[in-house]
Amino acid sequence: MPPASARIPPLVRDKVSDHAKKTLDIVEKFVNEECIPADAVYSAQLGQGEARWSLPPIMNELKEKAKALGLWNMFLAKGHYKEGAGFTNLEYGLICEQFGRSRTASEATNNSAPDTGNMEVLAKYGSAEQKAKWLTPLLNGEIRSAYVMTEPLTASSDATNVQLSIQRDGDSYVLNGQKWWISGAGDPRCKLYIVLGKTDPNNPNRHKQQSMILVPSNTPGITIKRMLSVYGYDDAPHGHAHLIFKNVRVPANSMVLGDGRGFEVMQGRMGPGRIHHAMRSIGAAEEALSWLLTRANAEHKKPFGKLLSQQGVILHWIAKSRIEIDAARLIVLNAAAAIDTGDAKSALVEIAEAKILVPNMALTIIDRAVQTFGAQGVCQDTPLAGMWASVRTIRIADGPDESHLEQLGRRENKKAGEATDRIQTQLDKADELFRKYGTAPSGPCTPLNMREMVPAKL
Ligand SMILES: Cc1cc2nc3c(=O)[nH]c(=O)nc-3n(C[C@H](O)[C@H](O)[C@H](O)COP(=O)(O)OP(=O)(O)OC[C@H]3O[C@@H](n4cnc5c(N)ncnc54)[C@H](O)[C@@H]3O)c2cc1C
Repeated sequence: MPPASARIPPLVRDKVSDHAKKTLDIVEKFVNEECIPADAVYSAQLGQGEARWSLPPIMNELKEKAKALGLWNMFLAKGHYKEGAGFTNLEYGLICEQFGRSRTASEATNNSAPDTGNMEVLAKYGSAEQKAKWLTPLLNGEIRSAYVMTEPLTASSDATNVQLSIQRDGDSYVLNGQKWWISGAGDPRCKLYIVLGKTDPNNPNRHKQQSMILVPSNTPGITIKRMLSVYGYDDAPHGHAHLIFKNVRVPANSMVLGDGRGFEVMQGRMGPGRIHHAMRSIGAAEEALSWLLTRANAEHKKPFGKLLSQQGVILHWIAKSRIEIDAARLIVLNAAAAIDTGDAKSALVEIAEAKILVPNMALTIIDRAVQTFGAQGVCQDTPLAGMWASVRTIRIADGPDESHLEQLGRRENKKAGEATDRIQTQLDKADELFRKYGTAPSGPCTPLNMREMVPAKL
């Protein structure tokens, strides 16, 4: 197979610099030769019981190798952040696809969620002091962080519902409440929580009630109530925690940007992260297809005397998978390009399209690969079962499909007036043409048939 740079879709090839192409090939080689072989060792080193909540030693070795290759902090986009490695969102998107093929690659290169989004928050909105204290060690890969928004007792897909209270008290803020699904909080290196709560619950503007505040994870009053599993996987050493905040006191200079600006910060954090997840899911889908091909051509496993790849249905799965991956990739790269030419706000529609489409596409392909393997597909022998569980959560995490679809649907539906007016105008014009030529209206789409279907101009 040609290197990744030679497989960049022609539609975007001109937008990718030579430096990015070269880096993409180094990343692909690093993922193929170092990370994927290390994935199984990483899982084995996690061990059992409490030992699972410490870092498998192979990760530090991978990090050293990544640094030596210059593969570090590639996520902070050119033109948007001065701290980054100088790639556009589109270029980094292509790199992310490679990361998505391996469990260890994103962390090995210091490009893993939720740290990437958290570092973007600090780089974009943090004070000089906050940057020195938190951004620098995060960029160096010395500590990790968590993003703390979702709550067990509220419908958190609507962030205006969050209830955790942040009250000013002299030179401090005091936090009380609970949060769950806090990814990364199980990791002993997780030193920073970026917490969304309410400073002004009675503000008539419901988007000004929230604030975002930086909380050291070892602050007295924070307890981990329990760790949550994802389809039975504990995702150690990272994990997903249910946290209790009881009279948690932090200095007033821990506030990000200012009281009541949490929603603004949250929205600024969202866009590029969704593209990263989507491109990693494309990588997962590619990897699943490789596993499918391997099983479909396994000489030693031929049901009813034929290779699986000689069965028409399996060939259709292979073909459909290729079409679906290639189509989805273009949707994500288009969204990345839209952020590059404007910003995350101006690319809302494109980002939402990618956020919704890609995990669903990847799940279909992973499921086909699982099916191809038969019973072996659902067990621990291949990465497919873990991959499915992980990608499945993306349909919920960072906003469920339904809420994004709702917003996209509303936006699209606003075009109804324009669409109806255009169709009406064209029907009028067709009427005129029928009269001009003295032709009797018949056949498809004649004004006579259509008038009953299309409402009057809106
Ligand atoms: C693996 C994983 C990791 C996560 N990591 C983090 C993290 O690090 N930090 C963090 O703060 N959160 C995290 N989350 C939480 C995630 O962001 C929330 O679960 C998500 O925003 C949905 O909120 P909720 O669970 O409260 O669901 P709810 O808001 O209660 O929604 C429940 C369901 O209602 C339906 N629904 C919602 N809105 C609409 C609508 N407009 N129209 C129709 N139906 C709708 C959807 O089907 C939705 O799934 C994580 C979740 C998972 C699964």
